[in-house]
Amino acid sequence: MTCTHLATVRDVTPSSNGCEDCLKIGDEWVHLRVCRTCGHVGCCDDSKNKHATRHYRATGHPIMESYDPPEAWGWCYVDEVMLDFTDNPTPHLSDSPARRTSRVRKARR
Ligand SMILES: [Zn+2]
Ligand SMILES: [Zn+2]
Ligand SMILES: [Zn+2]
Repeated sequence: MTCTHLATVRDVTPSSNGCEDCLKIGDEWVHLRVCRTCGHVGCCDDSKNKHATRHYRATGHPIMESYDPPEAWGWCYVDEVMLDFTDNPTPHLSDSPARRTSRVRKARR
């Protein structure tokens, strides 16, 4: 099975250092995904709010990339296949969300 949406992949600017929807409601996330159509940053399916998946359902943007941790793999929600973004990963904003989330978690424990 292959992904038919690779032409929709763009160089995007991440919308936020963390899950922008969780930040709005003051919630926490586990890992972050960035949308390769518009740059929306959302949380993964291990997070209770699953904002990256919700973003796909709301917008139909098919492809996300692992943003935190930055592992340079992607996922097409439509074809349900893994993608390789080793050649063009989305650069992080200045402050690493990995460091931010761990600081937040430590502070709350
Ligand atoms: Zn696809
Ligand atoms: Zn979230
Ligand atoms: Zn999007």
